[in-house]
Amino acid sequence: MKPKLYFLLCADTEDNHPNYIAGWEKVGSNYDEKQPIFRYDWTKYWDKLTAVFDRFDLKLPWFARTDMCILDDFLKKAKKQLKSLMENDHLIGIHIHTLYWDGKIWRQDVNEMNQKKIIKNSVRIFKDTMGFHPAVSRMGWNAMTNSIMIALEKENIRIDMSCVPGYHSAGMYGERDNIIDWQDSASNTYHPSGTDYKNKGNMKILEIPISVARGKKNMIFNAGMLNKIINRYLHRPVSKIIRKSGKMIDYIGYSPHSAFTISPFWSNRNIIKLIHQKKDEAKKNGKALLIGYFHPCDIFDAKKQGLNQRYISGMTDILSEIYSSDVEILDSRKIYEIKEGE
Ligand SMILES: [Zn+2]
Repeated sequence: MKPKLYFLLCADTEDNHPNYIAGWEKVGSNYDEKQPIFRYDWTKYWDKLTAVFDRFDLKLPWFARTDMCILDDFLKKAKKQLKSLMENDHLIGIHIHTLYWDGKIWRQDVNEMNQKKIIKNSVRIFKDTMGFHPAVSRMGWNAMTNSIMIALEKENIRIDMSCVPGYHSAGMYGERDNIIDWQDSASNTYHPSGTDYKNKGNMKILEIPISVARGKKNMIFNAGMLNKIINRYLHRPVSKIIRKSGKMIDYIGYSPHSAFTISPFWSNRNIIKLIHQKKDEAKKNGKALLIGYFHPCDIFDAKKQGLNQRYISGMTDILSEIYSSDVEILDSRKIYEIKEGE
């Protein structure tokens, strides 16, 4: 029997990136208005993206954005496409950003009572609009707290995939969002504890963490002082420099991420290394998990305001690497086979 590699490529499916992200000033969604201005330019290339997955017969968990900021706006726009993906055996889950209007901007809510309400109401909106209850979730910005985990379980979410082991951020873009703490979390799948979302306990919900390459230090989301300063205050100029040096980054093969996240800014070299590590693990143990995430909106090139062909090639390279092997690839169709400890 061939060794098994469970491969879940999570799609955080939402509007264009916000306009406070470097490069997206013109075409990004505006989160500085009480009535946010959402843009969905990327969705015109959605079919080009699914065509890549079809080539490999890969089915994904698509996490459709629903929360108290976007309400049902995205679901309504994407309902036809999401239903058609479902009919083609893809899995549709929920993607929740815990944003609230602070009087000036939409900001990540760190109040745990409010977080509970946001989860409850978001799941209700999803159910009312889509006609079914979501069973899988990924939180916006990989955010998590004990309250969020408990609220997800209460809403009968079976699997959450927000954990990125080791990630830590005290807030990007002037504390607007990206407040996360996955330091010292488990790295295999686990049923969390009600008092410690990062570690094993006896909750029913199963946490499936994003894969992280061994021996690689994560350079963006860590608890270091320099990162804290960059993330909070200097993100825009720093990311502008990075964006300008795109070709050079490809050439030197640099990525600050140790986790499996596909980004148009960084080299995919760490991801390829991770794929090899996981394949070896599958051959040794009979099975292994390879879990990644990406943003479908990256298929839209914000500068050229057209298709990002380079992103499609990068995605194709990654999938070719995964599928060219003597291991059996199991995708989201087999997600409920995954058990604790894997
Ligand atoms: Zn998101």
